[in-house]
Amino acid sequence: MLAIVVGLYLPNPASAWGPDGHRLVGSIADQLLSPTARQQVKTLLGVDLREAGPWLDCVKSVHRQADGSLAYVEDPLYEPPCTPFANDRAAMVDYAGRNWIDCVYPEGASAASNLGCHNTYHFDDIASQRDKFDRNYAGSSEHDLVAATNAAIAVLLGRSTPPPFNIKEKKEALMMLAHLVGDMTQPLHVAAPYLGPDGSLVDPDVTHTIDPSTETAGGNWIHDPKVLKGSDAFHHAWDDTPDDLGDTAPQALVDAAKALPVDTDRIENWAAIWATDTIEVSKQAMANVTYQKTGPRKWTIIFSDRDTYLKDADKLKRQQLAKAGARLAAVVNRIFQ
Ligand SMILES: [Zn+2]
Repeated sequence: MLAIVVGLYLPNPASAWGPDGHRLVGSIADQLLSPTARQQVKTLLGVDLREAGPWLDCVKSVHRQADGSLAYVEDPLYEPPCTPFANDRAAMVDYAGRNWIDCVYPEGASAASNLGCHNTYHFDDIASQRDKFDRNYAGSSEHDLVAATNAAIAVLLGRSTPPPFNIKEKKEALMMLAHLVGDMTQPLHVAAPYLGPDGSLVDPDVTHTIDPSTETAGGNWIHDPKVLKGSDAFHHAWDDTPDDLGDTAPQALVDAAKALPVDTDRIENWAAIWATDTIEVSKQAMANVTYQKTGPRKWTIIFSDRDTYLKDADKLKRQQLAKAGARLAAVVNRIFQ
């Protein structure tokens, strides 16, 4: 079944948590795995979860060519975290091909920005006013982050792949899971502000129709004019991990992850529970800011106190990374128990 995607993202700069963040999440999880799970991960992937984390973003380097075929196009900017997979790019092209046309990704109509459906697996755009994840809410879809996470879990449990996903084997499913559990904790990858012409929040669930003029693409179209280098997108500000963390988790982050309670619900419910938690967190990410419309698909963010906001955001990011690491370990431990 075809469905229109509401969130529109740029190919690579918008990936939730940059490669450092996905490696951090994986490196926390690696240290929380049971001996059995660790062995299974190694056997399946050949790499640890830390190295596997960025794989699903590396897949975004697969582009449709003029002759209609798909090919991995190396971009020096995004290549470093992808080097562990350099000798098996065929696997990325294959995955992208099988998950390219199962939904419509409207921005991909032109050859230049042609993005496959698999790009939608990384996010939801639930209105920030909601208090939980629900598949009936605007900004969710049958090929969103929650559905993709559940699909990967199903395959790892030995079940068939729920459509519209096409997951070839457990290895691919684990590569997906190692990434998506990280995406799930980035507030702007689950929730989004929808904005009216005066910059006020509008609610797409009142009519259950998204007015395209209110879309911010998970904050990608909201800009912070004080950012002078790199992307000034509000979304990107949340993808960035604190500089001092690098790409391997320090002990403090591992300890924070260990201290978190493990979900006791059925594993099939975990993705939705995680998304609900992130929607709650997104309320903090969107507190003490206002927005101003500056053009079509263009907004400016105004912070009531930018320094304090950034300091609070730094703390929140550490908490979210720790959660992602703990959850990734918990789900892998549960699957391979
Ligand atoms: Zn992602």
